[in-house]
Amino acid sequence: MKLTTDFECGSGIPQELGKHHWRIETVSDRCGYNKYFCFEIDASGDSDVATARIEIWPDPSMGGRSPFMCHFPSPIWHSTRNWQRWSPLRHIWEESVQFHPDHIELTIPVQPGVRMQVASNWPCRYSDLVAWISQIQDRHPGQVAMGTLGMSHGGRDIPVLYIGSGQPRFCVVAGQHPSEHSGVWASRGIVEYLLSNIREARALRETFQVAVIPMLNVDGNVLGRSAVGLQQFEHNNSMDFEGAANGVIPAYTENALLWDWMSNRFPPNLLLHFHGYLGWRTFGDLPADGLYVVPDQKDEAANSPRRKLQQAVLDRFLFESSAHTGHFGEVGDTPPSFLDSEVVKAFGSAVVCCEINAGTTGAAGQFRRGVDAFLAMANAAAIDCADALAELPHPNTEIK
Ligand SMILES: [Zn+2]
Repeated sequence: MKLTTDFECGSGIPQELGKHHWRIETVSDRCGYNKYFCFEIDASGDSDVATARIEIWPDPSMGGRSPFMCHFPSPIWHSTRNWQRWSPLRHIWEESVQFHPDHIELTIPVQPGVRMQVASNWPCRYSDLVAWISQIQDRHPGQVAMGTLGMSHGGRDIPVLYIGSGQPRFCVVAGQHPSEHSGVWASRGIVEYLLSNIREARALRETFQVAVIPMLNVDGNVLGRSAVGLQQFEHNNSMDFEGAANGVIPAYTENALLWDWMSNRFPPNLLLHFHGYLGWRTFGDLPADGLYVVPDQKDEAANSPRRKLQQAVLDRFLFESSAHTGHFGEVGDTPPSFLDSEVVKAFGSAVVCCEINAGTTGAAGQFRRGVDAFLAMANAAAIDCADALAELPHPNTEIK
């Protein structure tokens, strides 16, 4: 039996402690994120059933300050079908996962010949995303236009999918923190929904021009990072936008590309921004998806079209999506250096950050929660606030 982590989206440093027994130290980012791990067990050369014991420890370089264990308890996922059809280990082996205060212990019966991927959450690899985009184009010729934000710091293309012929620009962004695969699944759900033959979806294609960036941080995904990519600055890459509305260029390459694209190609009227997390430590009301909005701008009139639209979006979210920040009606504030805050300042958009809890559902659930969030926002704009939407900056006259 072999255990490896050195593949696309793999993460953690393994050390063999004995026969079928490993310790994996997770890899934190310099900015402090430490939550993802992904390894593969290969028993293709074995002739008997064996029990693999794996201890997963937070990155020791953080000296006990790692937030790793805060994300657990939460299901530990596995696939025996080459990255397809993941399920929680405990669905098969109830005793296979133990959460200790400082580490996770896995005890997994492994059949001879099996190759098994195990991860902290259900991953979507960059190569899976690229393959899916190619299928989407084949399945829906002429209905989806492919674009790019440009090349990541590591020279990988960052895809943008454009759908719809309407006026208001609706932007969906996910995958800034690469371990938060739930946002990638949610974005894929939105694209599949919009391209479906469902009557409401067809109507939305005529109402909006939608741009979906399903995976902003493609390098981080490939490297199996928790938050950042190849670049390792001390500050969190999601807090990289301070002053962007006044011309300050974000430090991380992918963030700078995103801001440039928004400024010159697609200033959004609506922005749905996905992040993700795991577990349920402080939440009674599952599925506990997070909801964060930008606090009201001081210089903005209470009855401004943007504020009306923002309130309508919030109302729809509370009743028609699973995003309640774990406690119904408790909406978080987005911090000032977050993308959303500068988008409101620069473009006067209605903006929501939705943090999908990947501990409470698999990929299909994340897929649907993405659609719920999208519909909450789209219906608030198109049905509840059509008058306010018409007063927002006109798309075609605003693009530089
Ligand atoms: Zn995040």
